[in-house]
Amino acid sequence: MNVDENPRTPVTVIGLGKMGTAIARTLVGRGHPTTVWNRTGSRAAPLAALGADVARTAADAVAASPLVIVCLLDGTAVEAVFETIAGAARGKVIVNVTSGSPAQARAAGEWAQTHGARYVDGGIMGDPAAVGSPEVLLSFSGDRVGFDTHRGALEDLGTVGYHGEDAGHAAVEFLAQVAVGYEFLIGLLHTFALITAEGADVVGFAERVAGTVEGYVPLVKSFGEAVAVGEYGPDLGSLHVQRALMDDLVSHREALGMDTVRMREIRRLMDRRISDGHGDQGFSSLFEVLNDERPHRDEAEDE
Ligand code: NAP
Repeated sequence: MNVDENPRTPVTVIGLGKMGTAIARTLVGRGHPTTVWNRTGSRAAPLAALGADVARTAADAVAASPLVIVCLLDGTAVEAVFETIAGAARGKVIVNVTSGSPAQARAAGEWAQTHGARYVDGGIMGDPAAVGSPEVLLSFSGDRVGFDTHRGALEDLGTVGYHGEDAGHAAVEFLAQVAVGYEFLIGLLHTFALITAEGADVVGFAERVAGTVEGYVPLVKSFGEAVAVGEYGPDLGSLHVQRALMDDLVSHREALGMDTVRMREIRRLMDRRISDGHGDQGFSSLFEVLNDERPHRDEAEDE
């Protein structure tokens, strides 16, 4: 069921920072009767000029619409605002797109359940200026009925994905997507440092890397499949062959006085996998060592 096939479903937006304002402006533009509230009331004026209703309190704003989108700075702000809307939450679908941790999302879901509301957690990847275009990716998880009911309104904001009923999974997706970018980019910057330390042409190198990076795209999917089933082919060549390069990669960095922590980690993981008798497998099989070395959840929580 998707009642938002009627694009005029009323929506409340709580939090009018850069992202909340972009969300509210988009909803007004798509014809949703939109109610807004912000702690600093003056930030609502441009939206009022566009036709949004400005609520006096956060509880009044929640009472105004069946769908309530919360977009605040962080989990502390969400907790502060939730305390003030407890009496108005019953029967509402609360979609919280404030960035946060899976644990915060699950706690917010429990809070909503206690107060008779359906809770959907969300993460937004994209620029406020692009909200309303398919470039903006929104990940949601949590109450399925709440999500399905208002999917249409949420799709007005960008490209939408639903990651299941665990309220924490949208945050897992968001944090993992951000982390993949950071892991890749810090490796790239370390390599640029190596190129410049050698007096080589960093711009030309970057252009060539932009081409070779495309070759890794099919590996992203095949690694995911290998990890899911625990079967590892000799992707990137066998570990025996790849290991032969590792000492050169480490010593090249050492010779330039550069950080070697990532290359040493890869070498150690390869050594462990080879000594476990899997040297004929490929790079993806290092996942097994990482997974093996990860403390079990209970142990991690005890620390
Ligand atoms: P922002 O411009 O700094 O706005 C923060 C909002 O939180 C303001 O409405 C602020 O109200 C409110 N707030 C902070 N503490 C509060 C409290 N204790 N009680 C009530 N309200 C409080 O931030 P933003 O850029 O809109 O980001 C909002 C969320 O979107 C964040 O979780 C961010 O990670 C996420 N996001 C942002 C971007 C981006 O590029 N901006 C991109 C993707 C995701 P006041 O106006 O009263 O200070």
